[in-house]
Amino acid sequence: MELRELGRTGLKLSSVGFGASPLGNVFGSVSEQQANASVRLAFQSGINFFDTSPYYGGTLSEKVLGKALKALNVPRSEYIVATKCGRYAEGFDFSAERVTRSVDESLERLQLDYVDILQCHDIEFGSLDQKLKEAGKTRFIGITGLPLEVFTYVLDRVPPGTLDVILSYCHHSINDSTLEDIVPYLKSKGVGIISASPLAMGLLTEAGPPEWHPASPELKSACRAAATYCKENGKNISKLALQYSLLNKEITSVLVGMKSVEQVEENVAAARELTASGIDEEALSEVGAILKPVKNQSWPSGIQQS
Ligand code: NAD
Repeated sequence: MELRELGRTGLKLSSVGFGASPLGNVFGSVSEQQANASVRLAFQSGINFFDTSPYYGGTLSEKVLGKALKALNVPRSEYIVATKCGRYAEGFDFSAERVTRSVDESLERLQLDYVDILQCHDIEFGSLDQKLKEAGKTRFIGITGLPLEVFTYVLDRVPPGTLDVILSYCHHSINDSTLEDIVPYLKSKGVGIISASPLAMGLLTEAGPPEWHPASPELKSACRAAATYCKENGKNISKLALQYSLLNKEITSVLVGMKSVEQVEENVAAARELTASGIDEEALSEVGAILKPVKNQSWPSGIQQS
């Protein structure tokens, strides 16, 4: 698995990262045995980056991921863990007091002494706190959010070095590539770039998105049509979508949510195949044409827009 440098952090992340929200049963239920086997296979296949949050499954994802990582029985320095703060099943709280407590709670659930990256989760709903880096409980600080403007808004206002990483989601997949527009800006600010949800949170899968997916009916139906086109032509929409997301090497890691050994196998194989023989340009162009009417269509997120 290819390793890419994350901004100025010195961390080298696998190009495919393990998104652990499915381990919180966010995309249907996952047994502990399945979770352990998925994490183990991912690690053995060269995936060294694992992303979670206290929000996923109301803390379940952190607990399950923590157990699975511990069961690997390898030195802590061999894997990179990111978690988040500020967003919880009960709601948002970015206060210094809650964030400080939050990181201790996360460390306990993850059974770790430190996380590599602590990210303020979906900051369009709140603001940013910085103290924890100094306490040694996280090595690097990041922010996550859906609207791309949150990144430029914050980075335009904080002193250089305040933020190490940004995590964007659903903006670097076949149906929405708007993250590309701000990559030069992010690079100029020296922050590492993580892109999540290459499958657009399930839109670009044969099984389709979960019930809670916020996309418009129009976007859902176009993605369904793209998945059907792939199936009917012996292609796999998820493979194509992940490979598309991996094409831009300025993006350090593409976080894909995985809930089974089969999905880990498929996603690792997709990355390897991309390196060996490139992307299926014909399928990409056909799927691009099907998705053109909904290209770059997103949905509201955050206080101002809701
Ligand atoms: P995703 O686009 O990665 O899609 C996940 C869905 O696709 C799940 O249902 C999964 O089971 C399925 N899937 C995975 N591999 C597949 C394959 N090969 N074939 C068919 N289906 C497959 O969306 P996501 O999980 O939301 O995003 C990835 C990760 O990024 C999350 O787990 C989380 O760690 C992170 N994330 C963070 C934020 C944030 O910070 N605000 C937001 C979104 C995602």
